[in-house]
Amino acid sequence: MLFTITYTGENPTDLGYLLHKNPARPQTADLSFGRVHVFYTETGPERCTAALLLDMDPLDLVRGRRASGGIFDYVNDRPYVCSSFMCTAISGVYGTAMSGGCAKKQELADTPLDLSVGLFMLPCRGGVILPELLFAPLGYEVHVEESALLDEQFPEWGSSPYIKLTIRGKVRLRDLLNHIYVLIPVFDLQKHYWIGDAEVDKLLDHGRGWLPDHPEKALIARRYFKNLRNLARSALDRLDNGEGAAEAFPSGKDELPGVSVNINDEPKTTSLPRLNTQRLEAVFNTIKKSGAGSVIDLGCGEGHLLRLLINEKNFTRVTGVDVSRTALEHARDKLKLERLPEARQKRVSLLHGSLSCRDKRFRGYDAAALVEVIEHLDENRLDTLEALILGDARPGILVITTPNIEYNEIYGISRFRHDDHRFEWDRSRFQSWAEEAARRYGYQVSFEGIGGADEKLGAPTQMAVFVREEIPGSSPRRPPCV
Ligand code: SAH
Repeated sequence: MLFTITYTGENPTDLGYLLHKNPARPQTADLSFGRVHVFYTETGPERCTAALLLDMDPLDLVRGRRASGGIFDYVNDRPYVCSSFMCTAISGVYGTAMSGGCAKKQELADTPLDLSVGLFMLPCRGGVILPELLFAPLGYEVHVEESALLDEQFPEWGSSPYIKLTIRGKVRLRDLLNHIYVLIPVFDLQKHYWIGDAEVDKLLDHGRGWLPDHPEKALIARRYFKNLRNLARSALDRLDNGEGAAEAFPSGKDELPGVSVNINDEPKTTSLPRLNTQRLEAVFNTIKKSGAGSVIDLGCGEGHLLRLLINEKNFTRVTGVDVSRTALEHARDKLKLERLPEARQKRVSLLHGSLSCRDKRFRGYDAAALVEVIEHLDENRLDTLEALILGDARPGILVITTPNIEYNEIYGISRFRHDDHRFEWDRSRFQSWAEEAARRYGYQVSFEGIGGADEKLGAPTQMAVFVREEIPGSSPRRPPCV
């Protein structure tokens, strides 16, 4: 990944003093996740460009740290894109410049200069308006080069989310570096280190002098903290001495303001309870009505459904399963399991497991839920999923929810609601899949829409409820481990 800074001015190679990097001498430093090289690509009479190249070995990312246990530990975009790793590299090699210190040219360091920055392979999840929203209010001219289609044979896959971003402005070097440092992770929504309270101090420190007045500060805080509301709220509280946060997080609402940027599952359209809340309530009520005593939430994520389940005394055994250890850690934190009374604690367990392999631990539950999970699996893995859940685990009732793609028209979404969705189905496709699966494994299935329905396009979420048929003597097919 490459990050360039160009200074256009009277003695452009003074950039070397400001960055504390000699234009005549390329330098290399070792970081825990790779090597960083600083060199100059031009040192002409009018312009001087310093390049920071981050060279990461994908295997170094996995070695020596606790992996999440999936293929994504090994196959991911991190070594090839501008992400929080780049921010760590920037603060590592340009730390003194970021603090504004320059003994030899302090006056220049304190002066707004004609500077431009190139960020190559910046993951722009949130649409191409994001660079403009973030950088224009800071006085930069913004230029975005979008990537081509991912594959010309499959235009429906859309174009790659990686962009080349160039910004140009009259700005002090230290401010420019701090803007970049804070805003790269805002584009990306991923960070390679644990985000805790100390990050609030870091954001305020690097945002000093500009973030409090930024019109998109709520959006910035929300995305900087990967949608962790408490941290975003705490940062905004401190930025505004408590005034702005109330406005940014309307009371009682479970949603955050700012532009709709494809990170919540659905854009905000009404003041009705958020779709996510309606969905969880629908699933919870269906399971409760079934009279189930034990429930397993497959793909439980951060534990939203689990929270409802553990507060209901009828459920004597509640289990959450997820393939992501990070999601399970968040679930553990959010549910505050350690603080629950012992009796309630005993009823709950979190399991690290995958829905691609038969797992005895999934058996013996009265009810199972797959809430907004199937669309995260490749379509050709669904046969396996059916066999594992309906064929092997065989809960008395299984509740599945998934987006209704027809409704995306109302949201103005041309493809899927989330970057990680492998497919989204219309009602007829979902129903024919579910009916076939039910028939194959001896279940009755019925359907319901969740969320305000459109007459023609249906409801935003579709739900299937499978109820096991009790046929004496029948023995379900047990699939092999896949
Ligand atoms: N049910 C949760 C989370 C939905 S997001 C909710 O409604 O809030 C989808 C979840 O499925 C993610 O947490 C993801 O880690 C999990 N997931 C995706 N593939 C999986 C697999 N093969 N096995 C287990 N969990 C999986």
